[in-house]
Amino acid sequence: MRGEAFLKSLNDGRSVWLDGKKVERLPEHPAFQGTLQTIKTLFNMLDHPDTQEEVGYYVPETGRYAHASFLVPRSPEQLAKRSRAFARWSSETCGMMSRLSDYARSIVTGWYAAREELSGLDPEFARKITAYYEKARDRDLFLTTAIIDPQIDRSKNLDDARIAERFLHVVRETEDGIVLRGAKMIATGAPYTHDFVLFSFLKFKDEDRKHAHVLIVPACSQGLHIVCRESFAARQELNHPLSAKYDEMDAVLFFDDVLVPWERVLLYGDAQKVLALRGNRTVNSLAFHQNVVRFVAKLEFVAGVAFAVAEAIGASGFLHVQEKLGELLTQIDVIKALVIASETQARYDDAGVLVPDLNYIETARCIGTRFYPRAIEILQQVGAGGFVQVPSSVEDFYGPISELMHRYFEGATVSAEKKVQLYKLAWDLIGSPLGSRHQLYERFYAGDPVRGYANLYNSFPKEKLTEPIWSLLKETSKGGLTKIGQQRG
Ligand SMILES: Cc1cc2nc3c(=O)[nH]c(=O)nc-3n(C[C@H](O)[C@H](O)[C@H](O)COP(=O)(O)OP(=O)(O)OC[C@H]3O[C@@H](n4cnc5c(N)ncnc54)[C@H](O)[C@@H]3O)c2cc1C
Repeated sequence: MRGEAFLKSLNDGRSVWLDGKKVERLPEHPAFQGTLQTIKTLFNMLDHPDTQEEVGYYVPETGRYAHASFLVPRSPEQLAKRSRAFARWSSETCGMMSRLSDYARSIVTGWYAAREELSGLDPEFARKITAYYEKARDRDLFLTTAIIDPQIDRSKNLDDARIAERFLHVVRETEDGIVLRGAKMIATGAPYTHDFVLFSFLKFKDEDRKHAHVLIVPACSQGLHIVCRESFAARQELNHPLSAKYDEMDAVLFFDDVLVPWERVLLYGDAQKVLALRGNRTVNSLAFHQNVVRFVAKLEFVAGVAFAVAEAIGASGFLHVQEKLGELLTQIDVIKALVIASETQARYDDAGVLVPDLNYIETARCIGTRFYPRAIEILQQVGAGGFVQVPSSVEDFYGPISELMHRYFEGATVSAEKKVQLYKLAWDLIGSPLGSRHQLYERFYAGDPVRGYANLYNSFPKEKLTEPIWSLLKETSKGGLTKIGQQRG
């Protein structure tokens, strides 16, 4: 089974740091065990006859199933297959695990799908990405991205030596490859990824050639340190049902003279070419499509918890509670509608790839940054103080105060035990470290939302909306408005 193979493959000498220590035997470490068991189960879905068709597709060349994120969609059915696979993995994890590698895999799939177009940037690109894509697909490689440069002083750029030296850059070129030094933040899933997909989010200048690169770097590379944030993984699933299984770890990456073989250097040394690759519509549409499908599952989960809480305490009949629960439904429908629009308005690119509409996807990613904090706010308003009116452990139900526990924690429609369980689940969403991390994630995973919204405006063909206004005003200056007014009157 490929889930077991995945866990085994992680004992490869990688340098993962947590709580001041290097992590040994990562799959068994308490900070990762629960999450890795979840990933193992998801990977095994590809081997199971009942689920492999839903999350994967058959690859005739290898005679086995690969995850649908590797499928290049060339028909509406294939695009729908990708969508269904993203939705299935997301709903299996209540939308709480966003970087199950299907996003980063979709970037690689996009590069492969657009390889002919992108080989204009580098004649070796098509060959290198084909070889890597096939390897990643056939060996079920887990991938993640690290795109953002470290947050040191955002008012400065590479003209400042302190910044230039710390942002990831090439210190040496050798016959075998390039040698990298510097850092990257943040890479979710970093401790248990096979490879990192690396490039920068910044618009570099031509002279910044040492910082301009697009790379795929193995996590076990010599000199690469994966520095984890505090673990939010909980051991007791009954008390922390989400933290016990879905804490996907975020980490910073330190590159202490890491050699990256030329075969893994997709682009290097040309800021304009890196920018062109980053802006490729086929790649971005296929990858960001996953983000939005995944988000539907998370909104449905939050709404489900909020509905259950309202019912459990007899609050679902209050008008203002109904209004708020209705708002959660509008959130789900808005994002769902944008997913449907992106898929039904998909267009074939020159290589025959069916590319979802990026505008609808970007709208969903922007609006999602506001939807999620609001969804959590609604959940807080519905459950109110009840979230802290829970015992520290469900163990109290089995101890000397058991009878009192059953009496005083009782709900309107559910037993005391069920109600406490439900509130613990809700607390993991709104109040636990994992819950807080998710609010930060939804605000920022797609980049700075301020610049995200601004980009929507900046890239919009504004004349479409302004032309009718200028025409109307032209009419007005000829007395057109008075005419319109008379007609209406
Ligand atoms: C939980 C979590 C997981 C993540 N996982 C990943 C991952 O797996 N891979 C990955 O690549 N990234 C990941 N990210 C990083 C994410 O992409 C960034 O957080 C996001 O792009 C914002 O960048 P920043 O955090 O560096 O904020 P900054 O850019 O440092 O912004 C800080 C503040 O300064 C303002 N600001 C900064 N610069 C400007 C400017 N030029 N113009 C206007 N305002 C500015 C911002 O609006 C903001 O208010 C993750 C983030 C989070 C929170």
